[in-house]
Formats: sequence, C-alpha cells, structure tokens
Amino acid sequence: SSPKIGFIGLGNMGRPMAQNVLAKYHDLLVYDVHHEAVESLNELGATVSQSPKDVAAQVDYIITMLPNNACVLEVYQGENGILKSVKKGALLIDSSTVDPDVSKAVAATAEAQGVMFLDAPVSGGVNAARLGQLTFMVGGPSEVFPVAQDLLFTMGARVVHCGPVGSGQATKICNNMLLGISMIGTSEAMTLGIRLGLDPKVLMNIVNSSSGRCWSSEVYSPVPGTMNNVPSSNDYKGGFGTKLMAKDLGLAQEAAARTTTPTPLGSLAYELYCTMVDSGFADKDFSSVYQFLTRKKVT
Ligand code: NAD
Repeated sequence: SSPKIGFIGLGNMGRPMAQNVLAKYHDLLVYDVHHEAVESLNELGATVSQSPKDVAAQVDYIITMLPNNACVLEVYQGENGILKSVKKGALLIDSSTVDPDVSKAVAATAEAQGVMFLDAPVSGGVNAARLGQLTFMVGGPSEVFPVAQDLLFTMGARVVHCGPVGSGQATKICNNMLLGISMIGTSEAMTLGIRLGLDPKVLMNIVNSSSGRCWSSEVYSPVPGTMNNVPSSNDYKGGFGTKLMAKDLGLAQEAAARTTTPTPLGSLAYELYCTMVDSGFADKDFSSVYQFLTRKKVT
C-alpha cells in the first residue's frame, strides 16, 4: 500500500510542493503554525494535523519546508516536535534552506532514535515548485538517498546526492553566494557601460558571447528592457526576493566565519543586499540591485 506522508510548513514553496505530493500519494497529513496555510491542502483532501509531533506519530515520511534555523530546530526538537513521536525506520527530509550545522544536529538526534534524516534544500522558485521542476540538493548517507528519490521526484526534476548530511545545504549556500555576487557584478558592469554611452542591448550581447558571461547576464538580466519574461522587465516583481538572497548570504557568512574561509565578495554582497532590505527592496527580486545602484537620490 502507498506510504503515509507528512508535510510541515505550507508557505509559498511548501504549499505547491505538498500539492504535488498529494496528487501522487493521496494519504497526506499537513501542519503549519498558521492555520490559513493548510486550508487549500485541506480542500484538496489532505488531513490537517495539530502539531509536528502529531504528524510524526502517524507517517512513514515527513517533508519540512520552513523559513529558518530556529523554526527547523523547533519543529524537529521542540516540545511538540517530530522527534518526540517519530516512528523507528521513518525518513525525515528537510527542504528548508538552513545552516549545514543545523542539519547535522537534527540528523544526529534522529539517527540516535533509529530514524533516517536527509537535508534536501531546493533551487527554483515558486513556479518550479508548482510545476514539480525543483532541483533537490541532498545530503545524507548514500544508502538513505535512494529511499527518498521517488518522493522527491514528485516535486522536482533533478535530485542530486551531494555528500553526507549537511552537504545539500552547503551546496545551496555556495551556489547562492556566487549568484548574489555575479548579479551585483553584472549590474555594475551594465551601469558603467550605460553611463559611458553604450546601448545596453549591445553591451549585453557582447558580454554574453564573451568572457563576462554568467547566468545573471545570460538568462536573468537585471537591466530593464534588455530581456523579456524576467523580473527586471516587470518592475522586479516575482522571482527570488532580496530578503531571501540576504538570508542565504547570511548563512554563507556564518559558515565562512566558522571555517575561517576568506569570502570578501560574499561579505560585501551580504552587506549590500541587507542595505537593500532596509531600503524598501526586501520583497523585490534580487536583480533589483541594478535599480538600487542606479537609483536617483531624492533631495
Ligand atoms: P514561507 O515563509 O512562505 O513559508 C514558511 C511556512 O512555514 C509558513 O507557512 C509558516 O507559517 C510556516 N512555519 C513557520 N514556523 C513554523 C513552525 N514552527 N511550525 C510549522 N510551520 C511553521 O517561506 P518559503 O518561501 O516557502 O520558503 C521556505 C524555505 O525554502 C526557506 O528556507 C527558503 O529560504 C527556501 N527557499 C525559498 C525559495 C523561494 O523562492 N521562495 C526558493 C528556494 C528555497
């Protein structure tokens, strides 16, 4: 018979992910601290639970999709947490973006109880979540990874084993640090070129067939009017919020401090996106760093 699945954290990402799981597995238990968050799943036939502990007592697999370190620790290790009642042999998958050390701590507690744990953060935003096109970066024992694959493929198009527990998170924060930096670099180069009198489309074309090329220049241009169907052509609405980019860069900086790794550009990028968050850009797509750098001061 089909396994019973639990899903905790039904926000922007969790809700569409849970819908894709429900479409395949039917027997789904859901929980979120905000009661409204579970309503759409309830209407589609999922059962609403009262706590993570209540979910864990009943299911074989749990996926969590939560905002940050504190929420993950609470949901797993808190008074009404998953680890208070989880069944032996269950598989727990955390898809939140958090510190790799948080994943390791939760995994250690789970393992001591005979429970499997994987960190499996995602790339791809809410559209990819809705379409089941996410990429999962998975950390955990190689013998546990295959157990998660079928379930993860109901939500994603790529499922990659990155190494032991914490490796999914490590992969995610390194990639996003590079993305944050390259978006700023693309925005700077474009701003300078435009002020030197260049046509932005001509400059972008040369960059994209030359050595300055990167994802930010090639498929996600931050300069309005140079590309269709990207946030910059829609007043930086949708996409990947500056607030979330700042969060991921903060995780990278914590990890860099802990490992005494020099990340000067990662550190600058973190500061810049934090300043944007404090300047009204929090909910705009992170490519709005171009707008932030070129904005006119109101005097
Ligand atoms: P969100 O804030 O929209 O959703 C989080 C949900 O968790 C909310 O519904 C909230 O009520 C719930 N929650 C918080 N504390 C809880 C608790 N103690 N118990 C139960 N539920 C609780 O966030 P999101 O955009 O869905 O992102 C989730 C995670 O995915 C984050 O770690 C984020 O960094 C990561 N992520 C987001 C995107 C994106 O584009 N939004 C892309 C990739 C990764």
